[in-house]
Amino acid sequence: MEARVYKNFIGGEFVESSTGKTFERRNPADTREVVGVFQDSGADDVHAAVAAAKAAYPAWSQVPAPRRGEILLKAAEIIQSRKDRYSQDLTREMGKPLFEAGGDIVEAIGMAQYAGSEGRRMHGVTTPSELPNKFQMSIRQPIGVVGLITPWNFPMAIASWKMLPAIVCGNTVVIKPGEDASISTYNLVECLVEAGLPPGVVNIVTGYGPGAGQPLVEHPDVPVISFTGSTDTGRLVYELGARQIKRVSLEMGGKNPLIVMPDADLDLVMEGVVWAAFGTTGQRCTATSRLIVHKDVAGPLVERIVARAQSLRVGDGLQAETEMGPLVNEKQMKRVLGYIELGQQEGATMRCGGGRLTEGALANGHFIQPTVFTGVRPSMRIAREEIFGPVLSVIEVGSLDEAIAVANDVAYGLSASIYTRDINAAMRAMLALQAGIVYINAPTIGAEIHLPFGGVKATGNGHREAGPTMMDVFSEWKSVYIDYSGSLQRAQIDL
Ligand code: NAD
Repeated sequence: MEARVYKNFIGGEFVESSTGKTFERRNPADTREVVGVFQDSGADDVHAAVAAAKAAYPAWSQVPAPRRGEILLKAAEIIQSRKDRYSQDLTREMGKPLFEAGGDIVEAIGMAQYAGSEGRRMHGVTTPSELPNKFQMSIRQPIGVVGLITPWNFPMAIASWKMLPAIVCGNTVVIKPGEDASISTYNLVECLVEAGLPPGVVNIVTGYGPGAGQPLVEHPDVPVISFTGSTDTGRLVYELGARQIKRVSLEMGGKNPLIVMPDADLDLVMEGVVWAAFGTTGQRCTATSRLIVHKDVAGPLVERIVARAQSLRVGDGLQAETEMGPLVNEKQMKRVLGYIELGQQEGATMRCGGGRLTEGALANGHFIQPTVFTGVRPSMRIAREEIFGPVLSVIEVGSLDEAIAVANDVAYGLSASIYTRDINAAMRAMLALQAGIVYINAPTIGAEIHLPFGGVKATGNGHREAGPTMMDVFSEWKSVYIDYSGSLQRAQIDL
């Protein structure tokens, strides 16, 4: 079957890139299959998309917020009705197994419901005044054209986290999806358009980071940038945005620790670790990549994890029995294999995995074995750098204090977890772990959209997606003072 050619979506029309260039995306489980052909866009395409979004902004920002929300609520139903098809598209484009792809779609449905209902809230604050006959309140207002740059690992969920709150707040949007998984963004936008979103409110420009992402960050008519991706790219986006005093929201890398105390239920830990370290082939920003385990239980726990890791069914995510899919592309596969090599050079013990899988049906995909290293010291690079693959580093410690110190001793701070039945230990860890998200007796993955999502240190810059905080990224506060005393009342003076 001939692969579909996806054109840029600008002002409600599908248009070819002005560069005249396209690029193919191939199925990472079988690279003989082209899943889509996309525009390799440049600055002119971004400028056209921003112009369309700017033109749509005055009318859209005037649509009452509850009406804007209704479109999202309707879109939620449309996405739900196409969940199976969209899951297949998502698995084909980035590799995660179908059951996980379904979770990605469900997250977008949840966000459409959550952001849609926000159209009827959008709460501000009212406070009493220090002065008589004076009323005061703060209200949210839309900002303008919002630029969104997304990665490939949660192609529908992350696009929805950014796009849906942005438009319910009354902004218009230009999105540059991750080049390895753009189809899911088209699927999401297709539902919004069918639900009644006017032309120009959402525009899609595909392409690579420097060619299509950077002109969006640099465009003077785009006052807000929301970016999710690696810390290196995020740092550049932040620098470029700062030159124009833009609001830049960054969600970046992680090196997420899971602490295990001696009183933990080891079978429960094993299940959690295997899911969080090897789910999505380790390509989650919240993946468990460091297992920080008390030495008293390290032996039996590692045995359980290794046994389960070795039995994981690795394969094409479209096959029902598959538990772990391929890595997203060849570059990522080489990078992960490079880290596995490095771990051995650094003196860690490779307890399982370590290699590429090429037998039979796996021959044309980017498959590698789930890999576990023991004897890892906190100073090793495999314990400090984001690998973004199915590689788990096991670090042994002797106390809760040491576990927390090791957990915090990295550049990142997205998600962290502790398994213990001791409420005191759990509470201490909850407060002391340097992370935006903490789990108790659950692994480092599994965020829900109703709570703020994001991280500290090199993971984020203080903004939070999802939860009520999502509205702060995409709206501007305005404080309003109404003096009905008929006389000049000087604040702080005429008390
Ligand atoms: P990436 O940084 O390579 O790319 C992210 C996006 O930025 C892509 O759309 C890319 O085209 C674009 N980009 C690249 N160079 C750019 C430039 N110069 N200007 C503007 N845009 C540019 O990241 P990736 O490989 O797509 O995703 C993996 C990374 O994302 C990992 O580090 C992971 O931890 C992180 N991530 C973080 C979260 C989170 O919420 N914290 C969620 C998912 C992924």
